[in-house]
Amino acid sequence: MKGNSGIMENFLISLVVPCYNEEMSAAAFTKRSVEVLEKIGQKYEIIFVNDGSRDNTLEVLKNLKNSYSGIRVVNLSRNFGKEAAMTAGIELSLGDVVIPIDADLQHPPELIEEFISKWKDGYDVVLAKRTTRVNESLPKKISARFFYRLQSKISEVDIPEDVGDFRLMSRKVVNALKKLPENQRFMKGLFAWVGFKSITIDYEVANREMGTTAFNGWKLWNFALDGITSFSTVPLRVWFYIGAFVALVAFLFGCSIILGTLIYGVDMPGYASMMTVVLFLGGVQLIGIGVLGEYLGRVYMESKQRPTYIIEGEY
Ligand code: UDP
Ligand code: MG
Repeated sequence: MKGNSGIMENFLISLVVPCYNEEMSAAAFTKRSVEVLEKIGQKYEIIFVNDGSRDNTLEVLKNLKNSYSGIRVVNLSRNFGKEAAMTAGIELSLGDVVIPIDADLQHPPELIEEFISKWKDGYDVVLAKRTTRVNESLPKKISARFFYRLQSKISEVDIPEDVGDFRLMSRKVVNALKKLPENQRFMKGLFAWVGFKSITIDYEVANREMGTTAFNGWKLWNFALDGITSFSTVPLRVWFYIGAFVALVAFLFGCSIILGTLIYGVDMPGYASMMTVVLFLGGVQLIGIGVLGEYLGRVYMESKQRPTYIIEGEY
């Protein structure tokens, strides 16, 4: 028996769709996805996770559930963020394969067919990689690139570049994910951390059909910090080396002052250089403390052991 062929004949597909203010996209998304899923001809469930939307998303989703079979609507008690909403959906999913996908149709559901065929070839993870970032601004492109570079340099698991949450995972992978207890979940990193045999396929990211993106610059910055600090302690350890380097330079500088005084006997007035050194080192120390604070904050949040999300109800 090769790969996943044992359950190839008869399996359940789970789509996990986090929704925040998606009243305008939900219907179009459902229509297109259902078409694709019907064509594949297997059992399926579409799990919508309403992440505390401020618009009518929940009502729209409930109506969709009445008009289509195979829809589950999970309502979170407030907005917990996309990572938490996705976690909720993945944990509740029953499928042999689980596919997180955005509600705004930026992830083409048509790719699901190819996902499934790769899974049948024996891959446990099928990643969809954006070939172009046509619709994104230059700063966003540059910062995304910088993030992936830095991330892969300083942590032991590489997050594949330009791969989002849109992917297929086999039941094995989902079970592994469910074992990770942390409640601050940087999903892209966790997906990469669990490993398994994976393959990447390319796709073109579409324009957001309706509504607006919930991720602005500040949110993305914090998201990037999450990505770095959840998977690497390098930012903590680097201070030892910075400190050692500065101490060495200070020592050499001290030697040169002593020598200079012995040889030339001049006592230099050094107000400007003193100020510079004091301010520079003060700044460096504050940054170091800031980084410590960042990690300490994470330890604090994790130590509370609060759940990642709270479900208000399932409809
Ligand atoms: N989303 C969510 N909770 C949030 C923000 C976003 O569930 O707090 C969902 C949103 O409904 C969409 C997906 O996450 O299905 C991606 O969001 P968006 O399109 O705003 O992000 P972008 O495509 O710009 O990265
Ligand atoms: Mg989007």
